[in-house]
Amino acid sequence: WQSKDCSRPFIAPRCFRFQISDHALHLHGGDPTMYERFWRQMGDKTTITIPGWQSMSYLSDTSKICWFLEPEFGTEVVRLHKVVGNAVVEGRYIVVGTGSSQLILAALYALSSPDAAEPISVVSAAPYYSSYPSMADYQKSGLYQWAGDAEKFNKEGPYIELVTSPNNPDGYRRQSMVNRSQGLLIHDLAYYWPQYTPISSPSDHDLTLFTVSKSTGHAGMRIGWALVKDKEVAKKMTKFIELNTIGVSKDSQLRAAKVLKAVSDSCEEEKQKDGESFFKYSYNLMAQRWKQLREVVEAGDMFSLPQFSPAFCNFFGKVTEPQPAFVWLKCEKDVEDCETFLRGHKIITRSGIQFGASPKYVRISLLDTDETFIQLIERLSAIHERE
Ligand code: PMP
Repeated sequence: WQSKDCSRPFIAPRCFRFQISDHALHLHGGDPTMYERFWRQMGDKTTITIPGWQSMSYLSDTSKICWFLEPEFGTEVVRLHKVVGNAVVEGRYIVVGTGSSQLILAALYALSSPDAAEPISVVSAAPYYSSYPSMADYQKSGLYQWAGDAEKFNKEGPYIELVTSPNNPDGYRRQSMVNRSQGLLIHDLAYYWPQYTPISSPSDHDLTLFTVSKSTGHAGMRIGWALVKDKEVAKKMTKFIELNTIGVSKDSQLRAAKVLKAVSDSCEEEKQKDGESFFKYSYNLMAQRWKQLREVVEAGDMFSLPQFSPAFCNFFGKVTEPQPAFVWLKCEKDVEDCETFLRGHKIITRSGIQFGASPKYVRISLLDTDETFIQLIERLSAIHERE
C-alpha cells in the first residue's frame, strides 16, 4: 500500500487488504491514538522547550486554592470552554489533576464525610465506565463504597452519583438517575466535546470533570481538570492531590496549556476561514468511522448498534449526530457471550459484564489508528461472510 492511491486509507480502504495480518486487534482499551496525524500536521505549534532551571518549585500560585495550578494552564482551560461553549466557567474553581482519574478519587474524598457512621454509597447507572467500581473500592476506604447501578439504588441517606455524559461505554447523553435529592453529583464529561456529541448548552453543575485524554487525544500527558462550584470541595480536592502526589507535573501542565491554546487558536482561525479546526478535523474523522461501521454492521444480522438522535450543536452551528468514542456493540442471534465470540475472530473487546451490563454487549474503541480501524471493519465484514 505504498502506491499513491493507497496513501489515504479512508479513500482507498481496499489497500489495506494486502496488509491484513493475523494478529489480534486490541480494542478493549481507549487509547486515543487517532488524533496523532492532526498533531503531526501542526508541526512545531505545540512544541515546548523547558530549560533545566524552570518549573523547579512545588508551588505555582499560592494565592489560589489549587496552589499547584499553573496559571497558563488555568487561562487556557477557561478560554477553551468559552470557545467551545461546553461548560460554564464563571464562579468555578479549577483543580488540576493527574488525569481525570486522580480527580475522580479526589472528588470521592472531598464529597464524603470523615464523621459519617458508614461509607457513603457511590453509584452510576449501568452500563457505567468500567473503572468506577474498582476506583471506589480498591483501597477499601472507610469513606466511600461502590454500591452499583444507580437505577437500582434504593438505600436511604446520602450517596454520590457519577454521571457520565456522553456515557462511556454507550455514548448516550445522561442526567442523574437516582430520583432523590440527597445525592452529591460528579459529572464526568470526558466526552462532552464537539467531535463526539452535539454541544447543546454549556454544562453547569457543581462538580464537573474534563480531561485532555479524550478531548485532544493527549492521554500520555496525564492532565485533567475539575470545575468546582463549592470552595470547600475545591479545597478538599486540592488537599487530596497534595497528599497523593504533592501537586501535578508542571511540565505536563505547560505542555497541556500549549495544546489547549493550539486547539482554541485553530477554532478562531477557522472562523476567519483560515485552516481547519481540531474539532472539525476530529469530527470528520469520527463521522467517517461511524459511517463505515454502520455500513458493515447493517450489511448483516449478527450485530446491532445504538441509535442516536441528532441535535443542534452550538459549536458547529448546525445539527450534528452523536458519534461516540466507543462502539457499544450487541451480538444478535444466539451469541450469548459477545466478547468470547469476537475474540474467536481475533477482535479483543471489553465485555458488557465489566460495565454492569449483559455479556451480549461489548465495548470497542474507535479511537485507535486508521490501520487498526480498517482492520476492524475488515474483520467484522469477514464475520458476516462466514456466519
Ligand atoms: N472518565 C471516563 C468516562 C473515561 O472514559 C476515562 C478514560 N477512559 C477517564 C475518566 C479517565 O481519563 P484520564 O485519567 O486519562 O483523564
